[in-house]
Amino acid sequence: MKKKAIQNLLDLISIEGPTGREKLVAEYLKKKLIIAGCKRNWIRHDDAHKRLNMGFEIGNLIVQIPGTVKAPRIMFSAHMDTVPLCRGAKPLIKRNRIIAKGKTGLGGDDRSGCAAILTLAETLLSKKTQRPPITLLFPIAEENGLHGSRMVRFNDLGNPAMGFNLDGQEPNEIVIGAMSAARWQANIMGISSHAGLEPQKGVSAGLIAAKAISAIYDKGYFGKIKKGNKHGTSNVGSINGGEASNQVMDHLIISGECRSHNQSFLEQIIRMHQKEFNHAAKTTKNSEGNHGKVIFKNESDYRAFRLKKSEPCVQIACKAVKKIGLIPNPLIMDAGLDANNFNEKGLPTVTLGTGSHNFHQLSEYVEIDEYLQTCKVLEEIVSASTTL
Ligand SMILES: [Zn+2]
Repeated sequence: MKKKAIQNLLDLISIEGPTGREKLVAEYLKKKLIIAGCKRNWIRHDDAHKRLNMGFEIGNLIVQIPGTVKAPRIMFSAHMDTVPLCRGAKPLIKRNRIIAKGKTGLGGDDRSGCAAILTLAETLLSKKTQRPPITLLFPIAEENGLHGSRMVRFNDLGNPAMGFNLDGQEPNEIVIGAMSAARWQANIMGISSHAGLEPQKGVSAGLIAAKAISAIYDKGYFGKIKKGNKHGTSNVGSINGGEASNQVMDHLIISGECRSHNQSFLEQIIRMHQKEFNHAAKTTKNSEGNHGKVIFKNESDYRAFRLKKSEPCVQIACKAVKKIGLIPNPLIMDAGLDANNFNEKGLPTVTLGTGSHNFHQLSEYVEIDEYLQTCKVLEEIVSASTTL
C-alpha cells in the first residue's frame, strides 16, 4: 500500500489543475479508479460547472461504490483544484517529505486528499474488504470560494449519511467547526469636475472611500475584530477607481471580505461597513451641497458550522484516529472548507488532515509518514462504518 500511496500522490501533484481547470486531474483519477476495479457506471461528473457559469472545464467528479454490507452510505471528499502558485509543480522526495522541485507551491492541498482517497479505493477493491456503500467526491473550484461543493446535489451523491472531507494538516486533526465568511462590494459614485479649475464642484469617490475605511478602522472593525467575546476579521481586497489626475474621481469600486465564527456577528460587521460607506457618501459634499452615492452589496461565501461530539462522523473519525495509535484532535478552523457547504445543507461532515503543511506557500510540503497515517485512518473509518 505504501509504495502505491506515495506514487499516487507524486502523480497527482505533477498534474496541473488550477481552479476551474481540473480536467486532467479528473481524467487521471478516473483512469486509476477503473484499473482498481471501479465499474464505469459507478463514475460520473455532475453539471456544477454549467450551473456555476464561470467558464470552468468540468463538473464535480462523483464515484458511487456499492457496499458489501448493509450500512448507511458514507462519503469521502477532496477538492481537485490547487492555487495558482502551484502551476508547474514538480514533486521531489527529500528525506521524509515531498517538496516542490522549483519555485512553486506543491499542491499537497489538496492532491494529498485526492491521493489518499484513490489509495483507499484501490485497497478496498483489491482486498475485497467489507464496506458500506461509499461515495467518493472530488469537487472542483474550492480555492476561490468553495464553488464546486456549493453546487453538489446530494441526490447525485447517492444521499450519504455522513461525510469525511480531506483537506487539512496533521492526521489526527478532526475539524468539527469552521467560520462564516461574506464578501462585500461598495460601488461609489462621486461627481466629476476639473481638478485644477473647479475642484470644489466635484465630489471625490476616493475621498468617500478613504473616509469610510478610516471610520471602520477607528471603530475597531478593520483587520482583527474583537468586541466583548465576539471575534471576526475584515479586509479590503481591492480598490479600483479614477481615470486621470486632473479629474475629480467620480467612480470607484472597493471590495473586501469579513469572517466570523458567529453568524450574527458577521452580519453586524457587514452592516457596520454599509453604514460607514453610506455615512461617508452623505457627508462628502461639493460647493453646491450635492453629495455622492454608494451602492453596497454583500453576499455570503459560506456559513459557520459546529458538529456535536456525539455526531456519528465525529465519533467514527475519533475512533479511527485512535485505532492507528494517535490522539484525536477535534478543532475549530479559522477558514472555510467544502465541509461548510455539506454541513450547511444537512450532511454532517468532518474534515481530516492529510500530512500536508504550509498551504498556499512556496514552502508547502507533505510529511510522508503523516500522509500514510491518513491512508490508514481512512481504512479504519470504512471498517468502523460497516457496523453502524
Ligand atoms: Zn484545500
